[in-house]
Formats: sequence, structure tokens, C-alpha cells
Amino acid sequence: TKWVYGFGGGRAEGRADMKNLLGGKGANLAEMSNLGIPVPPGFTISTEVCTYYYQNGETYPDTLRDEVMAALAKIEETLGRRFGSVEDPLLVSVRSGARASMPGMMDTILNLGLNDQSVEGLARRANDARFAYDSYRRFIQMYSDVVLEIDHHNFEEILDEAKEDKGVTQDTELDAEDWKKVIARYKDKVADLLGKPFPQDVHEQLWGAIGAVFGSWMNQRAIRYRQLNDIPESWGTAVNVQAMVFGNMGNDCSTGVCFTRNPSTGDNEFYGEFLVNAQGEDVVAGIRTPQQITILGKEAQRSTLPAMEECQPEVFKELNAIRHKLEAHYRDMQDMEFTVQQGRLWMLQTRTGKRTTKAALKIAVDMAREGLITRKEAIRRIDPVSLDQLLHPTLDPKAPRTLLTRALPASPGAAAGKVVFTAEEAEAWVNDKKEKVILVRVETSPEDIGGMHVSEGILTTRGGMTSHAAVVARGMGTPCVAGAGDIRIDTAAKIMRVAGKEIREGDVITLDGSTGEVFLGAVPTIQPEMTGDFATLMEWVDTIRTLKVRANAETPLDAATARKFGAEGIGLCRTEHMFFDPKRIIAMREMILADNEEGRRAALAKLLPFQRQDFIELFEIMRGLPVTIRLLDPPLHEFLPHTEAEIAEVAREAGVEPELVRSRNAALHEANPMLGHRGCRLGITYPEIYEMQARAIFEAAVHVSRETGRSVVPEVMIPLVGARKELDLLKAAIDKEAQAVFAEQNYAVHYTVGTMIELPRAALLAGEIAETAAFFSFGTNDLTQTTFGMSRDDSGPFIGVYRARGIYERDPFASLDQAGVGELIRIAAERGRATRPGLKLGICGEHGGDPASIAFCQKAGLDYVSCSPYRVPIARLAAAQAAL
Ligand code: ADP
Ligand code: MG
Ligand code: MG
Repeated sequence: TKWVYGFGGGRAEGRADMKNLLGGKGANLAEMSNLGIPVPPGFTISTEVCTYYYQNGETYPDTLRDEVMAALAKIEETLGRRFGSVEDPLLVSVRSGARASMPGMMDTILNLGLNDQSVEGLARRANDARFAYDSYRRFIQMYSDVVLEIDHHNFEEILDEAKEDKGVTQDTELDAEDWKKVIARYKDKVADLLGKPFPQDVHEQLWGAIGAVFGSWMNQRAIRYRQLNDIPESWGTAVNVQAMVFGNMGNDCSTGVCFTRNPSTGDNEFYGEFLVNAQGEDVVAGIRTPQQITILGKEAQRSTLPAMEECQPEVFKELNAIRHKLEAHYRDMQDMEFTVQQGRLWMLQTRTGKRTTKAALKIAVDMAREGLITRKEAIRRIDPVSLDQLLHPTLDPKAPRTLLTRALPASPGAAAGKVVFTAEEAEAWVNDKKEKVILVRVETSPEDIGGMHVSEGILTTRGGMTSHAAVVARGMGTPCVAGAGDIRIDTAAKIMRVAGKEIREGDVITLDGSTGEVFLGAVPTIQPEMTGDFATLMEWVDTIRTLKVRANAETPLDAATARKFGAEGIGLCRTEHMFFDPKRIIAMREMILADNEEGRRAALAKLLPFQRQDFIELFEIMRGLPVTIRLLDPPLHEFLPHTEAEIAEVAREAGVEPELVRSRNAALHEANPMLGHRGCRLGITYPEIYEMQARAIFEAAVHVSRETGRSVVPEVMIPLVGARKELDLLKAAIDKEAQAVFAEQNYAVHYTVGTMIELPRAALLAGEIAETAAFFSFGTNDLTQTTFGMSRDDSGPFIGVYRARGIYERDPFASLDQAGVGELIRIAAERGRATRPGLKLGICGEHGGDPASIAFCQKAGLDYVSCSPYRVPIARLAAAQAAL
């Protein structure tokens, strides 16, 4: 095997597409050399050596030493300079480089090859003793820190003392003699702490550094980073050894970083910073104010220092030419490092530049227009989930802020409001006092829905990304920070304590659901808009995708938002959410608690006008697009009264004794409501409920169609069906109601009746069910629960362990379990369509907005996905990517 790959002098043994073997840095250094771009010569020790090292008790392959020596000799030859020479020493940097850039890996060591003799040679050749000794002390510091594991504060102390002794504050005020003294003390310190001297043998230095790079692959920071980012341990890191070039040899020297386009706005302008007379990471470390590469934008933002194009026009011209060359070659925005030594430019790194979502969109659209990439590539380059950042109000980055705590970014967007501690208070403050509120709870439950709906944001102190608060908030597009364990809530006293502060009911806080941060007071926000490059890319997306995208929406606001974001209909309108309104919940409770049909019908009659109005508004907003309405689904206990006051209120409204209500309440208690009296079981046992809902739907449809002259497309959906017979009975009742309404109104509309597939039995018997159902909608939240036999709300404590132990790779409630739940979907799709070719298939639930799940839906042949309104653009993009 070949272990070492040389580069430099216009040639290289590697290429950009050899990242697996050479790591990102090494592969791109090789590629730049091949392109004739000036790169200091060097070599890359491949990632296979890292793998070998760990498979063979931390030893190297036999031939490695010879290969390294040969590669080093090549550099010496190219530059006419010898490693360890006293006259004219070759110095190198040792740089780690995995396939993916990885914080947590070893820091780069610069100036390796210096010792007490070679430093004098460097001083003579550079004709600059200060520079040479400064380089040497930097090397001792870095090497000791990284390889010898001596804490850097030891050296900082010595340096501080040296400056103090001399009465100066800046490193630059120390001269060669000062540095010599510092170096002597550094070496004493090392000998002291290590029990042996700082290595003077340059080969020992080199192998020490190489060993440290491979060793850092298994340090805690790197292991942790790999876990968090799904990077396999087997990849290994490469080591790059490269001849040093010096940006710190005087005022015709500099070092800098630059981007071929602006990484925060995406503008096609040369963007970057550099420091004159500086080395390596001085720019990033921010020790001095850097200068700009080009004169950018507004006068006001201009620093007082001249830009490179002004003060070093020759170097600038060359750097700008390389910028164009690299961007055209890689066909993407590049992030580059360079150093100028005595007027001569050297490139030290190039890679695909990180960018904001806004910049990513602009760059993709611009590059497609410039003909650098195709539209399809532009679409492929945008991470759908990243669009989230653009779809919610965001904190004004310029606004000042006071951080209280940081927790889980459970639902994106920013919101400010007055703190309230109960859902009832939330509704009272919003409806009566017309205030904006942030609902702060330990955790939320279904009966908090009303309060959650009116809140600007939701903050919980317990629960994870799939907790009730998080899921519901995402569905509503309401910002949510979850699991803020630092916060102590005293509900009785209406106080929360965090960061040494007491926040009372009515005090203002701001949530950033995209970062999980909580701030004191109101931090100003800016509103999202789907315009410009975003809108352009979405237009391209729509020409590619074949999956339709609908939204889950029940309120006019949600429906309007969904349309604004390009939804092609409503895929799930959850009628129960409409009953949590304070005016309706009483009638709802009255209905549930009635112990006979007559009582139920009386209560339902009160609900009918509300429900009809809901549908009228939805149909009007959706302007002829399909609207899938799910009839009542949740276990009745979610509507039950809890307090004595609520019980009394219901009793009064129903004209019965509170005692009767109380006993009905107790009778309706269920041990396992998720598997209890819910879904179509309600429709079977209390037919009048679905009859009322069907009537509301058809009366609304007739009304809107007649008024607007537009067609209205209601799709009536029955939840939790497990047997064809259930659907037969309920469909017959719905058809009967439709005929009655059409006859009364002397006006008919087209409608369909279909079912949710959310029980394994329904998926298996899909062939039969499709004889009655005009469409299937996969309710994958419940289908996941029922397939796994695992409650979403109770999976928190163990799902993390399951993932850590590799039992389930992902949280099946966040990303569809393609092997199990997916198999049921495939079976249902196939059997359903065998019975009814052209059966319309969709998916609703959290998975409808998850890109990986959407790709699955494409493969499974679904017609549409339905997701929360704020995820519609994400789903459109993910659907296009799935179709590419
Ligand atoms: P990182 O991956 O953290 O960016 P690098 O290996 O790129 O680490 O190097 C850190 C800094 O040292 C960068 O500014 C880089 O340009 C500089 N550097 C690395 N090798 C050399 C070299 N041979 N000559 C001059 N500067 C170098
Ligand atoms: Mg770098
Ligand atoms: Mg369901």
C-alpha cells in the first residue's frame, strides 16, 4: 500500500475526489497544486494509516517511515532547504484533516523544525532575529500544548511576566533578546514539568506531532463530535505536513482568510480579511483588527484601515484570479486560507464555504443563472430543514439582549410576550386584556391547547423535542423552547426563577425557538417573507416535484399561512381542535356527559353553527383546493371538566345536577385512552356526532360554492378505522346527511369519503377497506404508536437510550420508521390500489414535513404529503429533491 501522497510545485499525487483517503484538507491542497495554484510543497499521510494505527496497537505500517522520509526529501529538493539544517532550515506545519472538517481534532502545529541551532539559521536567512525567535517561541508553545500536553497557561504566565518586566503590553514590543529570554524560561518550564528537555531533534518533533494527530482522533472531544454528527470512527484522519511560509516576516507579509462570495448575504463579492505581518490563526484569534480584502458596501461599514485592493493591488489581483479559478473549478463558494511572504502569495487551504441559509439560496440561484450549475444542482444544494430559519420571525441580530437560559430549540421562530403560568390565564390575558403572552409550564397536556393557541410562544421546563409542547407548537408554528431545566416555576406564587432573577406573571420575556434561548424583556424581531431568491428557488422546485404538498390546518390563520407558503390543499383538518374554544368547550362537555342521545343532540345543535362557520372560512380561504376534514378523533377524556367550577358550569348549561355530571365524568375514565373510546369508535357509538359534523361540512360547502361560484372539494375522513364494516356504516351515514343537505338546499357539491390508515390492521386489510374508501391518509403518528406499541408521550425516558444503544437509529416519531411502519404503508398502498386503481394516497402527521420521510413517500408512490403550514416550503423542496 502507498501511505504518503506528495503535493506542491504544480503537481500532486492526490486529487479533490480522494477525500476519503487524504481528508478534505489534503485532497484540496493536492487539487490546488494540480491546478497550478501556488501551494507550499508538502505531503499527506493517508487516513488508512490512522485506521492501521488503531487496528495494530497504535503502531505504524513498516514502510511509513521510509515514505515520509522520501516525501520530506522531495520538499527539501523543491525548496533547496534542509529539515533541521543549521544554515537554512526547512520548517513545516503539521495539520490534521479528516474527510469532514472536525472541531475537536488536534490543533495545527506551525514552525516545526526549529531548535536552538536552526533558529539561528532562520534568523540569518531572514535577516531578522526577532522574527526567528518569535517563531521559535510560538513553536515551543504550540508543540508543548498539543503534543506534550502542557497547559498553555504556563507559557502565558511567563510571557506576561516578560512584558511586565519590560513595561510593555504588546507582544510586538518584545525584541529578539527578550524572546531569547522567554524561550529559555519556556524550555526550563517544559523540563521542569516533563522531567526531560524540550525535543531538539527535529525528527523526534515531527513524529511526535504526527502521533499527536492520530492520537487526537480518539480524544473525548473528537469522539463526542463524531457521535453528534454521525461521523463513523472508521473514517480516520489524515496528517498533512507542509513547508512553512511566513506571513510574519515584515510589512510585505500577511495572512488571511477569504470567501469567493459573501457567506452571510451570498452576494457575489470577494469577501475576506487579512492581517499584515502575522502568522496562521492570528486572524481568527482576533488579536488585532484585520483589514478587508475589498472595499465593501456602505461607507459607514468601512474600517479605517485600507483594503488589500488598495494597499496591495498586485497581490490582490493574483488572489482575485485564484478566487475566480477555484470557484469555477469547484462550482461552489469556497472558503480559502492564504499567506503572503515577502510579496509572494501562497494558498494554504480551500474548501466549500459554510453559509447562512439566506446566502445558500442566493448563491444557488445566482450560480444557476450564471450557468455555473444547473437548476437541479441548485435545488440539490439547499438543505430543506435549513429553510426553517427563513420561515419564522427572527430576532433582530442588531438588538441588545439579556440571556436567561438556553434549552431545546423545540419549535423555531422568535416571540416576545408577558409570562403566564396556566393555559387559562393565557386565554384570559389574550382574549380579555388583549395582551401578548408567553405560556410557561412545567409541561403541557392536551387541555392546554386553547392556551397554547393564543400564546406567542411556549416555554416548558420539562420534556424533549417530541414532547407534547414541542409537537403541538411545531404544528401551530408557535415558537417553543422545551426542557429548560434551569428554570424553577412556583405556579402558586406565579413566579419563575432563573439565572438569579425572579420573573413574575406579566413580566416580559423573549424566546428564540430556533436556538433554544430565553431572554429577559422584549427583543425586537423581523418578519419572514418568501420573496427574492427564496421565491425563485421555490418556483424551480415546483417544476420538478411530483408529490403534492398540503398542510395540516384548522384555523383560518393556519390555512392562510399554508396558502402563503404554497400549500395545495389541506391534508388534515383536526375538527377537535375547533372545540377547545371557551365558548364551545361547554357545549362539547355537555354533549359528552349527556347520558342519552337526546341530550347529546341538544348539545350538538349548539355546536353545529360554530362548526359550519369554521368550514365556511376554511373553504373560502382554500379557494377550490381540496380540504380533508377528519371527523372527531380524540379520546373524550380530553374534553372532560376537571374542576368543580367546570363541572358546575356544565351541569348548569345542561340543566342537570352536578352529581350526575360527576358520575358520568367518572364513568368515562379510561385506563388507556390512546387505545380506548376514540376515533371512529365514537362515530359508531354516538352516530349523532358525525352526523352533525357531516351536516356542518355540507352546509358550509353548499354555502361557499353557491356564493363564490367556485367548486368546493370536501374530503371527509374517518379516523382510526380497523375494519371495513366501520367505514361502511359511517360512510352510509355521511352520504345520507349529504343527500339531506343537498335536497334541503337544492344544491349539490362533489365530495369524497375516505379513511385514515393508522392501525396495522387497517394497513393489512387495505384491500377490503379500499372498496369503500375513496382515499387513504396515513396517520403516521398513530401508526407509529400502534406499530411499535409505544406511546409517543411516554417514549421520552427510553427512546434516547434505545438510540444510543443502536436499537433504533432515529426517533421513529421524528423520522418515519421505513423498515416497519414503512412496510405497512407499502402494503396498504399496494393492496388499496389493487382494489381501487388511482386510490388517492397521502400522509399526515409530523412525518409529512420530514425530508427523509418525504423521500420515502415518493418511493412508496403517494400522491401528497401534508405537514404543518410552516413546513410547507420545506416539504416542497424535499419533494423536489426526492424526485430528482
Ligand atoms: P484549521 O483546520 O484549524 O484551519 P489549519 O491546518 O488550516 O487548521 O491551520 C491553522 C492556521 O495555520 C491557518 O491559518 C493556516 O493557514 C496556517 N498554516 C497551516 N499550515 C501553514 C504553513 N505551512 N505555512 C503557513 N501557515 C500555515
Ligand atoms: Mg484551516
Ligand atoms: Mg391519529
